[in-house]
Amino acid sequence: RPILEVNDLKKHYIDSTGIVNRIRSAKPDRVHAVDGVSFTVSRGDTVGIVGESGCGKSTLAETLVGLKKPTSGNATLFENDIHEWVDQNRKRFARNVQFVFQDPSSSLDPKMTIRELIREPLEVHNVGTKDHQNGLVEDTITKVGLSVDQLDRYPSEMSGGQRQRVGIARAIVLEPQLLVLDEPTSALDVSVQAQILNLLNEIQEDLDLTTLIISHDISVIRYLCNKVLVMYLGKVAEMGTTENIFNNP
Ligand code: ADP
Ligand code: ADP
Repeated sequence: RPILEVNDLKKHYIDSTGIVNRIRSAKPDRVHAVDGVSFTVSRGDTVGIVGESGCGKSTLAETLVGLKKPTSGNATLFENDIHEWVDQNRKRFARNVQFVFQDPSSSLDPKMTIRELIREPLEVHNVGTKDHQNGLVEDTITKVGLSVDQLDRYPSEMSGGQRQRVGIARAIVLEPQLLVLDEPTSALDVSVQAQILNLLNEIQEDLDLTTLIISHDISVIRYLCNKVLVMYLGKVAEMGTTENIFNNP
């Protein structure tokens, strides 16, 4: 059975700016950000979600991980209904599904040390004793290519690439089964993008992860993904293996 089954999923917003629909000419007051999307993801897949800006990639990802409520349609993640997920059980299931944000500078609390930041998901999910948690934090910081003596620093004392490593550490410390990454390298200097890509590739293999990766950068998708989902105006335009999508335009 697939890990994730998405069936005619829709997420509509009220268009507070009025700008979007003048371009899209949909119903006057609504943005059909995700507009009837269906696809499945199997264990071990690394799926790239691509498409022009505004086509609904972030909205789709945020809806799937329970950060946004779907307007209609269905998705099952590990055989759990996404509607229940959002309403009552987000915390219970969330352990299995973690999110890496585009910009680590805005997702890391500047008042917390790196140790506290990586330990936080363990505390939220009541994983083990303090000692056990500290052990997991130390294992995880080395997995992301940082060292234990960096644990007492604050985010502002680290480079952009190091901060994204911390963001990744927070996402993998719970050993999730599904990792969703929204533009994981696009806020970084070009010189560190390749290092983060290498790290993500290693992590995918070591942790036997299933991943959804939003990126506008085709080279990122080619490097990390075995499948590609192309979105256009809120719908799935195409889905296939990376080879088929990029080699048969
Ligand atoms: P990205 O494509 O990187 O996700 P966007 O520029 O689409 O970023 O959106 C940035 C933020 O603004 C998001 O939090 C999004 O929910 C919000 N946003 C985008 N478009 C609108 C809109 N038309 N009305 C209100 N909020 C919006
Ligand atoms: P992408 O990630 O592909 O850039 P988004 O999912 O961010 O696309 O946005 C899809 C559409 O929904 C865009 O037209 C965007 O402006 C709109 N949108 C996103 N967030 C909001 C929001 N909070 N309120 C209203 N419209 C939004």
